[in-house]
Amino acid sequence: MSLTILFAAPAVWGEYHVTLEAALKRSNIKANLVQTADPAQVDYIIYAPSSPLQDFTPYTRCKAVLSLWAGVERIVGNASLSQPLCRMVDPALTEGMVEWVVGHTLRHHLGMDRHINNPDHIWDATVPPLARERPVAMLGMGALGTACAQALAALNFPVTGWSRTEKAVDRIPCLNGTDGLTQVLQTAQIVVLLLPKTPDTENLLNARTLALLPDGAVILNPGRGALIDDAALLAELSSGRLGHATLDVFRQEPLPQDHPFWASPRITVTPHIAADTRSESAASVIAENIHRGEAGLPFLHLVDRARGY
Ligand code: NAP
Repeated sequence: MSLTILFAAPAVWGEYHVTLEAALKRSNIKANLVQTADPAQVDYIIYAPSSPLQDFTPYTRCKAVLSLWAGVERIVGNASLSQPLCRMVDPALTEGMVEWVVGHTLRHHLGMDRHINNPDHIWDATVPPLARERPVAMLGMGALGTACAQALAALNFPVTGWSRTEKAVDRIPCLNGTDGLTQVLQTAQIVVLLLPKTPDTENLLNARTLALLPDGAVILNPGRGALIDDAALLAELSSGRLGHATLDVFRQEPLPQDHPFWASPRITVTPHIAADTRSESAASVIAENIHRGEAGLPFLHLVDRARGY
């Protein structure tokens, strides 16, 4: 019997339909991959936040909603969604995030800006410390945070991880809870945020927690804009207490032209490009989950609806 798979992300159909068809074939899944269908006949839904599909009630046969995005904050609270929701954990997306985090960490660690923008030809021979002398805090030790922490640790940065639950990760000491957050922030010269947006993580970096950071600390946020209180961040940067913030994600995207982040010399804006889902590898992840659903195996990357991620 052939499955009906509804591709409910029309904006990226062109990018995905060939790779998905190929991945389904590789997994021996007989399926009709369609953009419209009778809801009662749909077996799986492939979803993105831009999807026009918002009412999941009529999809009575649907066994899972498979998100093309890692962050699921725009669907996780949808009251009509009773089907299992899986988020995207894509090896190529992880690779992209590791490159973004390592690149921006090294920019600040090595003080590259001083030499790239040197209109007065100043011979400033200040030598940066070694990575081993630059403590990094990784807030969020999930799929992305762990990969980034390990890549930075491989360059000798002393990385400390922080997450909701206790963790044991090779080479990375990990903390959790409120005391753990205080401890990790008090020593970090570079802080990376790779947390999901949930009611518990919103404004995690606020006036009180930002004040815990050492003078001159740098923040990298490829997680979600709402993790940081914008006004508190601007206050710490404009007073010169914190060194710089490189931000990839914002409460409103695109970041409005009149947003003060654009004007701050201590903020670098990257336009939500830290890590994109890549259709080749993501199609294999989707096919693997459909295969598991049909074989009666537990889905991979299942979202805990109560936890919000
Ligand atoms: P993940 O595997 O679900 O990991 C999330 C991590 O955050 C886990 O370690 C989790 O702790 C921790 N966490 C959640 N709530 C917490 C809390 N209240 N206190 C402390 N730690 C908490 O997610 P992921 O795949 O690594 O992705 C992380 C986020 O990156 C996504 O949610 C998305 O927002 C963002 N992202 C951004 C881009 C981009 O291009 N900028 C691309 C992809 C993803 P436990 O391990 O204890 O559960």
